[in-house]
Amino acid sequence: VFCEVTVTAMQLEGRRAAAVVIEDRSRDEETELMRRDFVANVSHELRTPLTALMGFIETLRGPARNDPNARDRFLDIMEREAGRMNRLIGDLLSLSRVEQDERRRPVETVDIAGLIRSAVTALTPQAAAAGVAIEQVGLADRAVQLPGDADQLVQVFHNLIENAVKYGAGGGLVTITLERLDHEPVMRGPAWAIAVADKGEGIDPRHLPRLTERFYRVDTHRSREQGGTGLGLAIVKHIISRHRGRLRIESKKGEGSRFIVILPESVGRL
Ligand code: ADP
Repeated sequence: VFCEVTVTAMQLEGRRAAAVVIEDRSRDEETELMRRDFVANVSHELRTPLTALMGFIETLRGPARNDPNARDRFLDIMEREAGRMNRLIGDLLSLSRVEQDERRRPVETVDIAGLIRSAVTALTPQAAAAGVAIEQVGLADRAVQLPGDADQLVQVFHNLIENAVKYGAGGGLVTITLERLDHEPVMRGPAWAIAVADKGEGIDPRHLPRLTERFYRVDTHRSREQGGTGLGLAIVKHIISRHRGRLRIESKKGEGSRFIVILPESVGRL
């Protein structure tokens, strides 16, 4: 606990007295620490590709100047690193946008089944390249209308399916299911559960509570190799919370993971 104590000398009913104010500043301190941590993380994440870019520019000006093979190889790496910076900036902007309007309720209605189908279509080439099949259960020829922000919800499913493809590639199959829960106890009413399951490497239980933190990764090297920014699940968490929903993560090391999004049928109920 971090407290701020202020002592003020005063007069009370004609006698000398002291007013002691003790304020609990733990929350402010925590927020400030998190902010500093975030800024340090962002700087580090941006500096890594930038350092690589600067190094290659120098090499291209010097030793690799007259070597066309080396030049092509270095340009490919530079393109990849620039792409990484671009993705990171895109994710940072998404995160700040959803954080800003987290308190506003979504006002439009979206077809969640159609939205998931379009996220699958967009990711099919990436899945095919990784040797992963995507199976959809309860999604074909169906429209399920829910209150929501289409651009944001498509990002939720895009991020979860992309992670399942990236980290579950070994299992070769990603399964997406959509089902109605007639009575979701926490939401005290009907809700929809969308599960994205893979048969990949799974996640050690000790990582689960921190997985949706910004820049938290189980294996930083692996995430970078896959082009990850470490912000995908943080964005997912914020968007779901804006929709008054919940995210449940179930995983078993060596068997695979399941990310379940639960969205209330009506945000007005909460
Ligand atoms: P990243 O850009 O690193 O993928 P995310 O926020 O999307 O960032 O995910 C955070 C971390 O959670 C990942 O680095 C990875 O270690 C772990 N993770 C996410 N999805 C899965 C999954 N389906 N299977 C195994 N690990 C996963």
